[in-house]
Amino acid sequence: MESEKKHLRSVHPEDSVIKVENREIGGLNFQIIAGPCSIENEEQIFETAKAVKASGATMIRGGAFKPRTSPYAFQGLHEEGIRLLVEAKKITGLPIVSEVMDINHIPVFENVDVIQVGARNMQNFELLKELGHTKKPILLKRGLANTIEELLMSAEYIMAGGNDKVIFCERGIRTFETMTRNTLDISAVILLKKISHLPVIVDPSHAAGRKDLIEPLSLAAIVTGADGLIVEVHNCPEKALSDKDQQLTPKEFEEFMGKINPQIEFIGKSI
Ligand code: PEP
Ligand code: MN
Repeated sequence: MESEKKHLRSVHPEDSVIKVENREIGGLNFQIIAGPCSIENEEQIFETAKAVKASGATMIRGGAFKPRTSPYAFQGLHEEGIRLLVEAKKITGLPIVSEVMDINHIPVFENVDVIQVGARNMQNFELLKELGHTKKPILLKRGLANTIEELLMSAEYIMAGGNDKVIFCERGIRTFETMTRNTLDISAVILLKKISHLPVIVDPSHAAGRKDLIEPLSLAAIVTGADGLIVEVHNCPEKALSDKDQQLTPKEFEEFMGKINPQIEFIGKSI
């Protein structure tokens, strides 16, 4: 029924807390997902994973199936990429997050802890329905030009299938602005938390598309009630095969963590 939609806070007043392995996101639990845009090779993902863990990241991200604007751009390592990410999990002990693009690839994600639905697939309803039949937490990114209401309804597609483990991700929307890759919609974080009980994380990397805004946007996200951040980090960003301008070096990520940790504590949440 419309009035009883599962994502609504009115039907579930408490914050939802979603378990990912031995961690929790939502309520007073804050998570920091970090790692490269794409998994490129063994050395790159292992080095980056070890570095972000050392600085306090709580989950590792890495794309193996990449949605690229050009068909000639690097498309990801596919199954081999997932295999390397699973190895990175064994090395670091941290849960892993990766994007699924095709309904037929879902079985490849058996050992992935959080399945990401990227911005370009936010309204791939068949994919959402199928993910609703899995037991995995789903990181649902807002589409490039989708409204908050549409994002909420995409979560509902997953929940309607029986999977309540949906985490929203505000990653910036397309506007007339050209100084940033997208425009981070801070109002969306506030509204999503108000309307829904589901956790909300912020992706300052894809929102800004540039390194210098990642820390201030993250501080803003924490203050407005976000439950986590997803940040792109690469062991050697200038050589990255995708999103090279926005990926932090391990050293920059370490400094970033030093700045955001006190803010998370200040707001009364813990990593
Ligand atoms: C990503 O996280 O690598 C990605 C492609 O993000 P988005 O879907 O938000 O563009
Ligand atoms: Mn990226």
